[in-house]
Amino acid sequence: MGILERITRNIDNRCWDPGVKAFPVKNRYTAGVAGQKFFEEIKENGKFYGSRCEDCEITYLPARIYCERCFARLEEDNWIDVGTEGTVYSYTVMHQTKSGDHKEVPSLIAAVKIADSLLIHRLGECQPDDIQIGLPVKAKLKPKDKRQGGIEDIEYFKPL
Ligand SMILES: [Zn+2]
Repeated sequence: MGILERITRNIDNRCWDPGVKAFPVKNRYTAGVAGQKFFEEIKENGKFYGSRCEDCEITYLPARIYCERCFARLEEDNWIDVGTEGTVYSYTVMHQTKSGDHKEVPSLIAAVKIADSLLIHRLGECQPDDIQIGLPVKAKLKPKDKRQGGIEDIEYFKPL
């Protein structure tokens, strides 16, 4: 799902009109103010935006509007570019599909530590034997014209 357009009338959020027959929508997910900033910056500028609490000396990624430790409000002044590089904090090698079938080429999934947070994503341009805890990696983003404002705008993380 890409970035949602802002609505100006509440009634616009009550149903989705596919052009044939409208049906009611009960719930709708948004990334929130800070989450939207995170996805917009990836889409438009290829940057990762986090938020910094100076009192706790912690930087969250994606950006948040409150510090999880001291509950201080993190205003836009606290939102910072944290770069697209990190280190492998943990990883797994998947040899099976969701249905249990054997995968010819295993998938590599990692928790990548960026700033003081973890992003779970794919690893690419490497083999399972190349990976180790602490391995420096960098995000490989889709070309700008293919980005939609979602986590899939990151193709994978690759070793530096
Ligand atoms: Zn704090």
